[in-house]
Amino acid sequence: MMKIDVLTLFPEMFEGVLGHSILRKAADQNAVNYNIVNFRDYADNKHLTVDDYPYGGGAGMVLKPQPIFDAVEALKENTNTSPRVVLLCPQGERLTQRKSEELSTHDHLIFICGHYEGYDERIREHVVTDEISIGDYVLTGGELGAMVVIDSVVRLLPDVLGNAESHMKDSFSTGLLEHPHYTRPADFRGMKVPDVLVSGNHRLIDDWREKESLKRTYMRRPDLLENMQLTDIQKKWLDDIKKECK
Ligand code: SAM
Repeated sequence: MMKIDVLTLFPEMFEGVLGHSILRKAADQNAVNYNIVNFRDYADNKHLTVDDYPYGGGAGMVLKPQPIFDAVEALKENTNTSPRVVLLCPQGERLTQRKSEELSTHDHLIFICGHYEGYDERIREHVVTDEISIGDYVLTGGELGAMVVIDSVVRLLPDVLGNAESHMKDSFSTGLLEHPHYTRPADFRGMKVPDVLVSGNHRLIDDWREKESLKRTYMRRPDLLENMQLTDIQKKWLDDIKKECK
């Protein structure tokens, strides 16, 4: 079972997200155990202060090292694993499907959610193993970021998704964006499902999906194709798509 500890000043924020849908189901079936910790509980001062003014002056408050160092040390004491300690931070490595796949192979993850202006630098230098950003914008706190990373990791754990194959064909897992989907009715207000999908010919359907996936990637995210090793048939399809799109 994967263990996920989250250090936050706002534990209640996690109740909705971790308490529903696939993330809840994963906990119910013991694929994951969530432990949400308020790191204010580790502050060693009378007023349980976790932040202080920045040395050198300037706007905003900075998270003090002591509560976070002590909280992480306490979480490590109760385990014989060697956890990955993930700091949510707009300056970190941008989250990708590859990163989520890699994190999903570990037994124990600890997430640190920041607030205010930022963290005392010694937290990054001596406690953290990974710094992750969920995109090039600045959030108020690390909680939403931690939830995004947790969701993308937990859905990859064995048996969490009903159909084991369903995440393998997701956008980014194959290196491409996923093909379009349709469901019933075959004709909705005159808008028809592509004939091939109702043909019953699975070889043709697979080819159509692969080509549409390539086309969608070429149209929307051509950068993903830059370092991909395409098969001969994919190269041919891509040439056709480029001609169609001219
Ligand atoms: N002053 C910091 C800077 O410019 O890099 C931003 C601090 S931000 C207001 C407060 C906290 O929100 C951060 O410490 C981090 O935990 C979280 N955060 C903000 N943007 C994020 C992002 N793009 N990805 C992940 N976490 C983020």
